[in-house]
Amino acid sequence: MSAGLNLAQLQAVHYTDGACLVLAGAGSGKTRVITHKIAHMIERGMEPKRIAAITFTNKAAAEMRERAKGLIGRRAKDVLVCTFHALGVRMVREDGAVLGLKPQFSIMDADDVAGILKDAAGGTTDLATARQWQWTISKWKNMGLTSGQALAQATDDNERSIAVVMARYEERLAAYQSVDFDDLIGMPLKLLRDFPEVRAKWQAALAHVLVDEYQDTNATQYELLKLLVGERGHFTAVGDDDQSIYGWRGATLDNLKKLPLDYPALKVIKLEQNYRSTSAILRAANNVIGPNPKLFPKTLFSELGEGDPVRVVDADTEEHEADRAVARIQSLRAAANPPPAWKDFAILYRANHQAKPFEKALRRANIPYKVSGGTSFFDRAEIKDLCAWFRLWINNDDDPAFLRAIGSPKRGIGHTTLAALGAFATQHKQSMFGALFNGMLPAAVPKRALDGLHEFGRYINDLEHRARHTHGAEASRAFLADWLKEIGYEQHLYDGEDSEKVAAARWTNVLEFCDWMAQRAGGQIDDTAGAVVAKETKSLLEVSQTIALLSTISEREQEQDMVTLSTLHASKGLEWPHVILVGVTEGMLPFKLDDDEGRQLKVADDTLQRLQEERRLMYVGITRAQRTLAVSWTKKRKKGREMVAARPSRFIAEMGLDKATTREDPREKLKALRAEFAAKAQAASAANAAPTA
Ligand code: ATP
Ligand code: MG
Repeated sequence: MSAGLNLAQLQAVHYTDGACLVLAGAGSGKTRVITHKIAHMIERGMEPKRIAAITFTNKAAAEMRERAKGLIGRRAKDVLVCTFHALGVRMVREDGAVLGLKPQFSIMDADDVAGILKDAAGGTTDLATARQWQWTISKWKNMGLTSGQALAQATDDNERSIAVVMARYEERLAAYQSVDFDDLIGMPLKLLRDFPEVRAKWQAALAHVLVDEYQDTNATQYELLKLLVGERGHFTAVGDDDQSIYGWRGATLDNLKKLPLDYPALKVIKLEQNYRSTSAILRAANNVIGPNPKLFPKTLFSELGEGDPVRVVDADTEEHEADRAVARIQSLRAAANPPPAWKDFAILYRANHQAKPFEKALRRANIPYKVSGGTSFFDRAEIKDLCAWFRLWINNDDDPAFLRAIGSPKRGIGHTTLAALGAFATQHKQSMFGALFNGMLPAAVPKRALDGLHEFGRYINDLEHRARHTHGAEASRAFLADWLKEIGYEQHLYDGEDSEKVAAARWTNVLEFCDWMAQRAGGQIDDTAGAVVAKETKSLLEVSQTIALLSTISEREQEQDMVTLSTLHASKGLEWPHVILVGVTEGMLPFKLDDDEGRQLKVADDTLQRLQEERRLMYVGITRAQRTLAVSWTKKRKKGREMVAARPSRFIAEMGLDKATTREDPREKLKALRAEFAAKAQAASAANAAPTA
């Protein structure tokens, strides 16, 4: 297992008898240590299912499982590789009964939560306010505060009223048999802290816990980890304080500082060689992070050679910037033989909304791309519709799912009826579904509406029953096809869409999704949430249960040959041969520190601290690049509706680039275009010549 590991890495891999912290800069092989350590422990006889590896995203989990499989084969399959949230799902599902949750609980996504909050406040609030509350409540929950505690420590009227809404919100979640994302950390923590038998069970079940991207854990995750590993403290945490970019979400570097105090025997290992980037790229990264205070001294060097100089691209507007990015991709492809694949390129930016012009430019140029970290497959309206039905037939008490399912497709049950039903349900402390069969409901809604409601309720029960008795891929496929026909979903899509093309695309998504479910029922696909590893066929009910859970917390990504568009946050831990960092404009990166919008404002009032986090974000971006890096900025940027003059980000100057070599030379581009043209012409004439050959 020593292949492809340096001495320090080997040391980290071989140290399995206690607490171990690998603290090192970007690209130094921290994640590689984790995969090799998993393999090492299994080879030394540890049962795979007693190892848990916690990653930051489901995508990272899938990749890690793949890599571990590459090292030790099928045994890697039983290792629990997942995110903190997926681990939480598993724990709450197994042991949540003591908290009053049934195993079929639902997970509310951000939209559901905003809806519930609006509702909890009497429905008079606008969405923007609801989102703000959501943010504050989430922050409190991450700090481990109950609504009562939040109320007690509130410092102004606004906070006090949010705490009151929070109390109602928590009541509703409980009534819906639902949890939100924060509960997926908070509840497992509660389980381990307050229920000794649950704690003993999990501590015995897991022999070693590994955590990647440790610098981005928050206080509740720290406590959770501590209770999971117990006094024995057999764990490996790997991280880089310079890449801590989730401070706004409660991540805290205190978790790094606390470790040596809580685990006096902690073995700290530092890695110094970067295996990812050229020296030119690494130097720029080191220069940018330089001004930040050092939590731990680190050095990082690369032996991959100087490489191409980092380029700075000036653009007039975002559209111009997008065109230049596309031109760069095309010329880099034209200049190399063989040309790099599309998937070797990434365009990274600060915020999701910046993707638009790049998407347009790529589409115009016929370049395949995917937007990651933005809207995932599961965020599409049609998939959310289907998931609402699944959620409802699994957990009848899931009111947000009830409302969505009963309206997609519309079945003639009007808003007033639903409002009456909702009021009745609240009054009787029942879920909306539960209220359907309450003997007193007829007094509350008109007769005609009542028939429609009953019919819907019976239909859901019927579906639940059928799904429970549908096993395997073929039967599941048939079931799903029948169900979609029964509710007229295809027609619903075509009715709701002006463009037939869009409707067809959405219907294709639906079919693709159903096929994917059927495959799961056939046991062909593993559950990426790490909750269940399928080997045998499953009932469709079981599958829909995992899907409904999965859908809210994961992205289903396929490895395809496409340019990646991603936010900097979502790019963490990943690498691409060619990276273009865009929007490196003062006011965007760093984000305008006195701007009147955006979550940043509410984070820390300390501007300096925020600037430091922005700097780390830039550092993360630079260090994603393996071979070439370009940073671009625009002379004008949007501020609200206006366009204002802009300057290059201070980070560009801080990269300390050599002015003479950084500007892109237009002649180079011309050369590249000529080369591309020549190559195309050659290919065309070869194709013409082919038939006679
Ligand atoms: P980040 O901080 O960005 O998460 P990391 O420290 O986790 O980075 P890895 O992703 O594990 O770094 O490794 C970076 C690259 O270097 C990967 O392509 C990995 O395969 C390679 N690498 C790591 N260690 C070695 C080694 N000893 N020999 C050769 N290649 C290595
Ligand atoms: Mg990593």
